[in-house]
Amino acid sequence: MRRTLALGAALALLGGCASIADRPATVERMYVISCGENHVKDLARWSAPDAGKSAVFLNHCYLIKHARGWMLWDTGNSDAFAALPNGNSVLGGMLVQIMRKPLAGSLKEIGVAPADIQYLAMSHLHGDHAGNANLFAAATLYMQAVEYDIAFGPEPQKYGFQAANYAKLRDSRVVKLAGDHDVFGDGSVLIKAAPGHTIGHQVLFVRLAQTGPVVLSGDVVHNAANWAAKRVPALNFNADQSAVSMQMVEQLMARTGAKLWINHDPEQGKSMPKSPAYVQ
Ligand SMILES: [Zn+2]
Repeated sequence: MRRTLALGAALALLGGCASIADRPATVERMYVISCGENHVKDLARWSAPDAGKSAVFLNHCYLIKHARGWMLWDTGNSDAFAALPNGNSVLGGMLVQIMRKPLAGSLKEIGVAPADIQYLAMSHLHGDHAGNANLFAAATLYMQAVEYDIAFGPEPQKYGFQAANYAKLRDSRVVKLAGDHDVFGDGSVLIKAAPGHTIGHQVLFVRLAQTGPVVLSGDVVHNAANWAAKRVPALNFNADQSAVSMQMVEQLMARTGAKLWINHDPEQGKSMPKSPAYVQ
């Protein structure tokens, strides 16, 4: 009788363990940081039906607290633009990049120094996502090998990358990826290869305990209207890959119940709680 009870207790314990193991791991919290604005004079290159219209794309960085350390996703417009009252004008005035609050200041407000960040990944290396990469040379960099090899190859400018933004990462520890990667090994943060906007573009899947899973878009899509229409911008590196990557994200969302957080979308961006507040 005693043995039966002991066995029953052991089975109950095992059952309890199994249900804990079934619950997916989550990160502790995530900060959505305002990382600039990009004022576009003519939307034609981003959305053909909106040719002639102007727009303000918001820009964000995302700071993730995991039990194993801090991870930063995207680094925003360069903090140097904060000193330019009219912003930094590129593409013959087609795009004006503004940085009202430097990323370094936003991190300080949270109580995190750039050197505290051990994990760095960027959706891609365009200037509005890699603008402050040089601050994080102490972190391990997670990048698709195809993007990395062009970034540190002879002609990054041909791909729209400005080497000066990330030159200090040349000697950083790097994990070169050829596809998806589970950053902490527990399923809570997954880098998903999503090429098309650039050659090695990627998106980030993050599991939050209360909010649920989210996909941080990078530039797999720029706004909600383009997402609804599955519209590929004319400026993308590869249109076919872009369409496949959007499909991949949609399937990931269907499978996991994840919401899509579109980095540049002006309406969605306004509704997000910004750092030093955070989401869990
Ligand atoms: Zn962008």
